Amino acid sequence: MKIWLGGARGSFAVSGPEYGRHGGDTFAMLVEGQDGAQLLLDAGSGVRRLLSRLRADYVLYFTHTHLDHLLGLPLLENKWPRQLVLPRGDLAATLARVFSPPIWPVTLSTADYSVPAMQAAVGGLVIRWHEVAHPDGCVAYRVDEPATGESMVVATDCEWPAMAPAAQESFVKFAHGADLLVFDAQYLPEEYPAHRGWGHSTWADAVAVAQRCAAKRLWLIHHKPKRTDAELAALGAAAAAVFPGATVPVPD
Ligand SMILES: [Zn+2]
Ligand SMILES: [Zn+2]
Repeated sequence: MKIWLGGARGSFAVSGPEYGRHGGDTFAMLVEGQDGAQLLLDAGSGVRRLLSRLRADYVLYFTHTHLDHLLGLPLLENKWPRQLVLPRGDLAATLARVFSPPIWPVTLSTADYSVPAMQAAVGGLVIRWHEVAHPDGCVAYRVDEPATGESMVVATDCEWPAMAPAAQESFVKFAHGADLLVFDAQYLPEEYPAHRGWGHSTWADAVAVAQRCAAKRLWLIHHKPKRTDAELAALGAAAAAVFPGATVPVPD
């Protein structure tokens, strides 16, 4: 399983020299199985870094449809996915609201927008999902590749403290043993009280989840938009001091 990160910023895209290392793009991630099957997770502005890698038959799974996760969708117009999936709600109807003049001059392209069963397969990749706490709802995805035994879980937008103990326990079972956990780390612990209910976690929450899930590695993502490279380095160091497998990934 290969993973490319297109963008890791949350909420909105930024630019400037202080964001040079970690980039200013919002979330998009490409997962490729050993058989070449490709799964694009979300379509934030980071899809522009992934465009050249996309093959004709890739599929796109959305965690949810907040703007920062579909901002890059117009970039895919000439390389549209064969299937677009959101496990909850009517994805085609939602996207058609965005792809509608005068918001955007192009209407929504034809594709398969159907919702698969609770478990789906893209080539040799097996995909499952789990609801997480976030305004308007959001799902986390688990991708397993039985042929290699590799696994990853991505929870882009998740307010861990807002999940009831039973929901947390259910998530821990869902994500257990993942080789890589990619988790919302938008806030510093001291920032969280002023942002309770905004739908995001702290790096300390992400570390606690990784430990409970016995994940091997942790990628801290969905950065607060104006978090600079220097601040992200400090955040990553603080997390790694508690959980050595934690890093703030650099987009590809
Ligand atoms: Zn987001
Ligand atoms: Zn969101």
